[in-house]
Order: sequence, then C-alpha cells, then structure tokens
Amino acid sequence: MTDPQKIWQGVLGELELILSKANFTTWFKNTFIISIDEEKGQAVIGVPNAFTKSWMEEKYNTAIIKALFNVSGKTISSILYQIQTLKQSHHQSAMEEPAGAVSEPLNTTHKEQFHEAPNAHGLSRRYTFSNFIVGAGNQLAHGASCAVAEEPGVRYNPLFLYGDVGLGKTHLMHAIGIAALLRNPSSRVIYINFEKFTNDYVAAARKGGFDAFREHYRSADILLVDDVQFMIDKEKTQEEFFNTFEVLHHNEKQIVITSDRPPKALIELEDRMISRFEWGMIADIKMPDQETRRAILENKCKERGFSLEPEIIAYIAENIKNNIRELEGALNKTIAWYELNHKTPSLSSVREILLNVLADPARKSLSPRRIIEAVAEFYDVSLPDITGQCRKRELVLPRQIAMYLMRNELENSYPTIGQNIGGRDHTTVMYACQKIEDILEKEDRMRKDVEDIRQKLYR
Ligand code: ADP
Ligand code: MG
Repeated sequence: MTDPQKIWQGVLGELELILSKANFTTWFKNTFIISIDEEKGQAVIGVPNAFTKSWMEEKYNTAIIKALFNVSGKTISSILYQIQTLKQSHHQSAMEEPAGAVSEPLNTTHKEQFHEAPNAHGLSRRYTFSNFIVGAGNQLAHGASCAVAEEPGVRYNPLFLYGDVGLGKTHLMHAIGIAALLRNPSSRVIYINFEKFTNDYVAAARKGGFDAFREHYRSADILLVDDVQFMIDKEKTQEEFFNTFEVLHHNEKQIVITSDRPPKALIELEDRMISRFEWGMIADIKMPDQETRRAILENKCKERGFSLEPEIIAYIAENIKNNIRELEGALNKTIAWYELNHKTPSLSSVREILLNVLADPARKSLSPRRIIEAVAEFYDVSLPDITGQCRKRELVLPRQIAMYLMRNELENSYPTIGQNIGGRDHTTVMYACQKIEDILEKEDRMRKDVEDIRQKLYR
C-alpha cells in the first residue's frame, strides 16, 4: 500500500480499536497525513493545533508508529507533527497557525473591546488566560480550554472540566469566554452557574412560557455552564438542560461544563446526561504543585502592586496546600497586615499571621465538600439533600450547620459559602450562621452534636 491517504485511514482504523471512543475522537478527528518518506523513514502528520501536537508527541507517538508499520509494512521511525488545518492542506499551504494567540495578555484596546461587546453574558474580566498560571495540576484543563477558545464548537465538544472547589474551574470558563469574544466579538457567549439556569427555568415556568428562556440559551455560540453537580435532584431542569444541550451540540455550538466530580461520579443524573458529558473531552484540575503555587502568589502580588520577599512567598506556597482560594486568602491576610502596620512583614510575622490557618494539620485538608460530607453522614442524609432546595426541618438544620462550620472552620466568606452550598444567597448564609450560634448558646445537646461533627472533620 503506498497511497498515504489510504495508509492513514488504516492507521486511524487501528487506533480506533485500541483507544476509547472519547480519546479517539478528541485527538484524531482532525488529523490527516501530509506525506510519507519511506527512504527517510519519516511521516508528516497534520494536526489542528499546538496542543494536539504536543499531546501526540507525548502520548501517541509510539502507537502511531506501530500502526503505521502494521498498515504499510514499512518501518517509519520518526513522525513530524505539523500544525495545519484540513482546509489549509487542501490549499497546499504549510503555514503554521498562530498557536497560543489566545493566551496573549489582554492589552487595553482588547479590554475596551471586550467591555463593549454586547454578547458577553455574565463574564467577568478578572479571569483571563493571561492571569491564569499554568503548571502541573491544571495543564491539561488549560490546554483544552485554549483550544476551545480558539475554535469553539469544532473540537472537544463538550469540554468537561472537573476538580475540587477553588482550583480554577470558574476562572478557566471566563477565560474561554473572554478569549473567544476577543477573537470574534460577534459571537454570543453565555456564562451561567447551573443554579442560575435553574432559577431562570423556574421563573419562566412561573410566567407560563419557556419561549424566551429557550430562545436565550439556545441561541448561544458558546454556552459555559458552571457547577453542574447542582443539577442533581432537579429533574425538570435537567431535562430542559438536556434538550438545550442537544440543540446546541447538534448545531455545533460549543458547550463547556464544570463540576466538582467527573461525569461518572454524577451517579444521581440520568445516564443519557452523563453519556453526553463524556462525548467530548474530560479534563481534571488538581491542586498545582508548590512551584506553580509560588508563581500564582507572585502574579497576584504583582497584580496588586505589592511585593513580598521570596522566602515569604515560598513559605505560604509550601504551607497552603488546599486550594488556590485559600492561597489567595493567606496572601490577603498578609497584605492586610502590611496595610495596618505600614511595614513589610518579616517571615516571623507571616508565620504568626497564618497561624490560624496552619495551626491544625488536619485543617489543611479540610474543604467545603468534606464538611458537607461529615454533616451528611452525621445526620444520615445525602449530599444533594444538604445542597438542595427542600425545606424540611430535618434537612434545613444540617444545611445550616454545614454553613456554620464552613464559616468557623474554613473562614470562608458568606458568598463563597453560599456558592458551595447549592448556590445560595449570602444573606441566607448569614442568617444560618447566626441562627446556629443562637442555638448553640442555648442547647447543650446541639453543642455536643456540632462538637462531634467537628471531631470527625479533624480525625
Ligand atoms: P473553582 O471554580 O474551581 O472553585 P475558581 O476558578 O473560583 O475555582 O478559583 C478560585 C480562585 O483561585 C480564583 O480567584 C482564581 O482566580 C484563582 N486561581 C485558581 N487557579 C489559578 C491559577 N492557575 N492561576 C491564577 N489564579 C488561579
Ligand atoms: Mg467555581
């Protein structure tokens, strides 16, 4: 067999057998062969972007070489991956795509343009690719996000990002939206938290018509849906979202989804919804390594026009291991100290400032999710019960206790707590914390319960 196109078809056939469907479509859908040089033992493969290129080089090179041999009977020992789109290859042009264009820092004209973009629904300019630090832990998610912003709806659809709270999922979503708008200011980008989607849906039902609601969401070019774990226990909204998904996906519109767990772990959802989530690309985000945490801190300092000794940055980065939000919290405390004392903090004062956060070793691994789990276990209710909307007393009390513990153990802000407990308003959280404090003052029994849960948290 010598026709390169046929050989590549054969190679794809072989790879399809050994890879999962998701991986195969994600990585090989837009690849093609450019040339094979049997004498040199070299093949040139066209790939759509820099991200796929490095992925191919790292992960699939050996498999491709093996498949090439199986199909053609020739030993090809090296492969060059060239960034090219199919269209370009038809025009015989080997020009490289301006890879990484989306991660260019936003300059002021860009900012202004974005500000005026009428199609940016719910996007915050605070979160961009240029202030997202890439490192071990978030590399894949970042790369996939860039690719999506570059060519929405073409590859990785949907893009599903998951990871614990405070690791940058929301940040990446906004960054995708902003970068996509900068590339194409006329595209319609909609960002929503799933809770907002639910509220809109309920409001539409109350008004007696879904037309405007559907028109709004189904006309998106890019729909960014944050925190879909809140879909659990909301059958009607799930159904509506499923249909929205179908329409958008069918029309090759980009969908990006985040969740605190992978699709498979969203067991309470319908199978058809979970399988849609798995159609495209799934990328997880983990806590970045220490070096990356240092880079994040340095960047945050720079953004705020503040400078800290390297040893202090290193100390914070070394000791705060939970999530980036906590890392920011530690930095904020340090800056507040500086502003109060009008002098640069020394390492020993930073130690003291962070004592609260760091005192208890177990605290380091404490997260909102762990609090919810511990409370749910104690009261023998499910996680969705706690974050859900049901107002039965046997659920309301554990929910309020969870909020109280997040406030007292994690020192989370009221809006953050609201976010983590089913997207509730900060006033609801304030009320809950006050109420639990009042009860604790009066009731020994309750005090003991809460103490038991606290013990569990630090066990
Ligand atoms: P999540 O949505 O996963 O809970 P967020 O996107 O809200 O997390 O991130 C929490 C905070 O940490 C935000 O202020 C975000 O800007 C910051 N952050 C997270 N990851 C990074 C990163 N890699 N570089 C810079 N800032 C980050
Ligand atoms: Mg988030």
